Formats: sequence, structure tokens, C-alpha cells
Amino acid sequence: MFLIGLSGGIGSGKSTVSNFLRNSGIPVIDADQIAREVVKQNSKCYFLIRKHFGPEVINDADGEINRPYLAQIIFNDPEKRKLLNSITHPEVQKRTFLQILYYFITFSPFVVLDIPLLFESSIYKPYMSYTILVTCTPEQQKERIKKRNGYTDEEASSRISAQMPIEEKRQLADIIIDNSGDLEATIEKTKAVFRDLRFPLTFWIFRFLLIGLTLIPTVILLKLL
Ligand code: ADP
Repeated sequence: MFLIGLSGGIGSGKSTVSNFLRNSGIPVIDADQIAREVVKQNSKCYFLIRKHFGPEVINDADGEINRPYLAQIIFNDPEKRKLLNSITHPEVQKRTFLQILYYFITFSPFVVLDIPLLFESSIYKPYMSYTILVTCTPEQQKERIKKRNGYTDEEASSRISAQMPIEEKRQLADIIIDNSGDLEATIEKTKAVFRDLRFPLTFWIFRFLLIGLTLIPTVILLKLL
């Protein structure tokens, strides 16, 4: 099995592409979804966050962590961001690994890891056979997140500029999916990328080993009977 990393700048269309892949039956591991799950009420991370960030990060209504409020805190405070990451990252990595293991033992030829900060963080990238970057223009990013998140012009700009510039990400990515046109065009490009993916050597070695390991004992067993 091999791993494909999918990423993009905020609002560039990464989730749109990953939703399409998932709906097409391709195994996708969603790092954002896992990050939401690990802070659910009464989890280990939930209690640690409440301990370190105070009861004000808990919603009165449902007792869950107020993620937009927490995001706001860490956006403005690098030390707090580090603290939050030290609480959540080990749990996120553990669950990601377990999901990869699940796809491995169920013989998926590959799995897509949808990771917002794939290029910013050095944790996952070395394990990826391919990295895919979904892009659009910074103006489109801004307009799309203003519409999606209700951000003001300044909020949208500061969220975009807090990330690695898209030009830098382009240099690091193996494959680019340009999402500056309409959705249909992006879906067609995504289909073409997945049609053309070449299975790496490690995939074939693993397949041959697997076939050998199952075939040889079967032949021996048949001869003995
Ligand atoms: P990301 O996951 O990269 O932050 P999304 O996939 O959520 O970005 O896309 C951001 C917003 O832009 C969403 O509201 C989405 O519906 C919209 N969007 C995505 N692709 C397009 C497109 N090609 N044309 C117009 N709107 C788009």
C-alpha cells in the first residue's frame, strides 16, 4: 500500500476534492475530522485542554470544546498553539496510524491522507509516495473563505498570510490540481490525476511478497494432501 498526501491553502478547495474522492469510493483519512474527534467531550485531550486553557473554552450549551474560540486563542498566541499541539498531536497521530493500518490489512492499494498542514509540518510528508496540492488564486481563496466562514476582509487576509505561501507549497508538491475554474473542471482534473497515478516500486514489491507468501504455502499444502 502507498500513501498520497492531499493538501492546499485555506479555502483553495482541498475538502471539495477530498469529498469527491471519498464519494468515489477512494479511502481518505481526514486529519481535520480526527482532530475534531480527539477533543470530544470526556476524552483525554478534552480534560487536558480544559485544565490548561480554562473552563471558558467549553460551550455552556453542550459542554463541548468551543473550537472556533480555541482556534482564535492559538491563532494569536504561538506558545498556546504549541501547548495545544502537544496535547492533541500525539492522539491525532495514533488514530491516523490506526486508520492507515486498517486500510493496509484490508488490502487497499493506496490511501489518501487529507492533511491541511502537510507541507508546513515535517511529520507526514516523508511517508508520502505522492503529494497533491489543490490551488486557486489568493484572491479566490479570500473570497471563498469570506463566504464560507463569514470572515471580514482582514480576517481572511490574516488567515491566508499565516500559512506557508502557496508558491512555496507548489515547489514541494508532486502534483497540482488547479481549482481556479469551476467545480466541474476540478472534478475532471482530479479524476485524471487518479487515473494516471503510477503505482510505486514499493507497492509492486509488497504485492509480489504477499502473493508469494500466500501462494507458496498453498502449493505446499496441496502437494501434501
Ligand atoms: P479548503 O478545504 O481548502 O479550505 P473548501 O474545499 O472548503 O476549501 O473550499 C472553500 C470554499 O470554496 C467552500 O465553500 C467551497 O464550496 C468553495 N469552492 C471550492 N471550490 C470551488 C470552485 N471551484 N468554485 C467556487 N467555489 C468553490
